[in-house]
Formats: sequence, structure tokens, C-alpha cells
Amino acid sequence: MAVANTNTENWKGRLRARGLRATPSTLATLQCLEQRGQAMSHDDLTQTFGDQAPDRVTLYRILERLVQAGIVQRYTDSTRTQRFALIERVVGLFECDNCHHVMPIEHDPALDAAIEIVKSHLTGHGISEREITLSSHGICPDCNRTQTK
Ligand SMILES: [Zn+2]
Repeated sequence: MAVANTNTENWKGRLRARGLRATPSTLATLQCLEQRGQAMSHDDLTQTFGDQAPDRVTLYRILERLVQAGIVQRYTDSTRTQRFALIERVVGLFECDNCHHVMPIEHDPALDAAIEIVKSHLTGHGISEREITLSSHGICPDCNRTQTK
């Protein structure tokens, strides 16, 4: 697939620019995170890899490096499970109060415009160097569906 190859080349360049080695496991990890619309735990990643899964320690190290390089965001959900998502796609996180499923809130032109408004509001109050992340709680679509049945 041409698209997948372009992405792989893209990641290779970006990893090298940050002084990381573009190993096949690292690239596969990034692709898993890219394809999933949700933040993934170690176990989610291992399951997605199937037979090709790197061992636990290797996967842990890969994620650790990606977090340190600012490519992947790590957070802990309310069941204390660590989850990972690509930083560039995430403006914030939604966590379901019922099943504790965590979903990244992804960039979107309307959302980015809203964040710019918040930033300029803060600038008006003399605040600089602000970082804005969204945090949301509620009931996820899956739980909504099963509850309304
Ligand atoms: Zn839920």
C-alpha cells in the first residue's frame, strides 16, 4: 500500500530527527497507534501485533523512548492502566465513567479554532506559554448503546 509506505518513510525521518532508531518494532508500534482511534495499553498493542509482538520489555522500552521524544503521550486511566496515543493527533482525552475506556479527543479545525480563542483570552489576561489540553468525562458510545437497550 502506497499510503502505508509514505507513512513509514515519514516516521523514519521523524524518529531519526529526534535521535531515535527506526527499528521495525518501533515503526510497527507507531502504525498501530496511528490506525487505532483510541489510546492503547501495552496489552492492546500486544494483541494488535499478534504473533509479531515484541516482548514486553522491548515494547515498554519503545514506548518509553517515544514518550521521551515527545511523539507519544502517556497517561493513566482510572484503573491505573497506562495508555498511549500519538501526541500530534490528540488535543485531549475523554474517559468513560462507566467502563473507563479512554479515547483521545483528536484535532479538528473547529476544535483547534476554539482552542485559539481560549489562548487569546488567556493572552488578554497576561498569561503566556500556556498549554491547553481538554479533559472530558462521561459515557462512551458503547456504554450508551448497551444502556439504552
Ligand atoms: Zn463506556
